[in-house]
This record gives sequence, C-alpha cells and structure tokens, in this order.
Amino acid sequence: MTSRVDGRKIDELRKMSARIGVVKRADGSAMFQIGDTIAFAAVYGPRELHPRFLQNPEKAMLRCHYDMASFSVSERKKPGPSRRSVEISLVTEKALSSVVDLKLYPNAVIDVFIQIIQANAGTRCAGITAAAMALAHAGVPMREMVAAVSVGKVGKEIVLDLTKEEEDEETGATDIPVAMTSYNKGITLLQLDGEVNKKELIEALKLAGKGCEEIFKLQERVLKEVYSGGKNE
Ligand code: ADP
Repeated sequence: MTSRVDGRKIDELRKMSARIGVVKRADGSAMFQIGDTIAFAAVYGPRELHPRFLQNPEKAMLRCHYDMASFSVSERKKPGPSRRSVEISLVTEKALSSVVDLKLYPNAVIDVFIQIIQANAGTRCAGITAAAMALAHAGVPMREMVAAVSVGKVGKEIVLDLTKEEEDEETGATDIPVAMTSYNKGITLLQLDGEVNKKELIEALKLAGKGCEEIFKLQERVLKEVYSGGKNE
C-alpha cells in the first residue's frame, strides 16, 4: 500500500474540529474544519419569504448560499458568485432539504449562508457538514443529521478525504463528494469528477460511510455540549 502525501492511512480523515454558535446574530451557526479547509455556516429563519409570489403555502423554501472568501486560496479568488458557487449552493440545498421538516413552515424561507474561509479541497462537503450543525443549532426540526466527505481515487488507491495536493495529482485523481444521513444512511449528495469502475465506486461509498460516521460523532458531541451548557457557544 502506497502511503499518502500527508502520511495518512487510506481510510483516515484529516484532523477535524467543530464549534457551534460562531455567529451570534444568526439563529444558528457553526464552524467545521477538516485539515486546512474551514467552513462557517449561518442560518437565518424560518422567516416569511419575500417577495410573496415566491411563497409556497405547502412548505418552506430552504435557500443555500455557498461562497469562498477571496483570501481562502493562495491566489486571490475573484469575489462574487460564479458558476461553481451556484452549482454548489444548489447541491447543498438538495443534500440538506430531505432531512428538514419544511412542511412545518408554509410560506417561509430558511436561509443558509456558507462561507469558506480557507480552502484545501472538500469545501462543498465541509460546507454541508457545517450547515447541518447550524440548522440543528437554529432549532429547525430535522429528521436526522447530514455529514459529508469526499472520497476518491488517487493513483490506484481508493482514499478518504482528499487534499488539494491529492486532487491535483499528476496521473489525475477522481473526486467523489458524498453526503449521508445519520440514521437511514441515505445518500443526499453524490457527484463524480473523474473515472472509477463499479467495484471502486462501491468501495469508495463504503469509505465515505465510515468517514461520515466519524463526522456524525463530532457533530453530535459539539451540539450536545451546547445544550448541556458546555464550552461551545
Ligand atoms: P470542493 O472544494 O468541494 O472539493 P472543487 O473540486 O470545485 O470543490 O474544488 C477543489 C479545490 O480547488 C477547492 O477546495 C479549493 O482548494 C480549490 N479551488 C476551487 N476554486 C478555486 C479558485 N477559484 N481559486 C483557487 N482555488 C480554488
């Protein structure tokens, strides 16, 4: 087995940390760091949706806004929305909306702002993981939690949680971001950039499941700390 550039095992996540209540003005907020990737998420709502013609009397709208700070990468990123940020906002909405009980809030909107402060691969996954914690912190009823991690193929090896260096590997890495629900183990995000065969995809999904389990534990721990008056918040 070839070792990875940062010395991790193939099924090892980068070092993680998480905090709840990082944006005091928001109804719910969280920070999630995995390796050198840092995501902040802030939730506002449920609140009445304007303009009113966008309102749905059956359920609330979950609206996600993903953005990467211009200082989050070494070459300054052009500020403002891009095709990439629009796509990531949309897949984030899809990754989260199935666990949120949107029918409880007709005509409302729940806004989820995700800001990537530092980027080193896996930012959409870190954003989803932070956003799920921020939603829970905002008291939005959720059927289960969502965690996300990227898996992929580097060289011939299927590995967990790719770094930017691994993604940019000369022979061309395959990146598979996956989001999973904590109870039913449903997959709410599955994208694939590169090539893998069926056997490799099954192996990658198993690895993503293992990674998400570790992330669920961290999410649960920091959320429990807040509600038991612990050090978070
Ligand atoms: P993800 O961050 O979810 O893996 P991508 O595969 O699009 O999404 O991006 C991979 C990585 O490439 C990012 O995490 C970041 O480190 C880097 N990256 C993305 N966009 C830019 C950009 N505009 N400038 C510099 N680096 C970027």
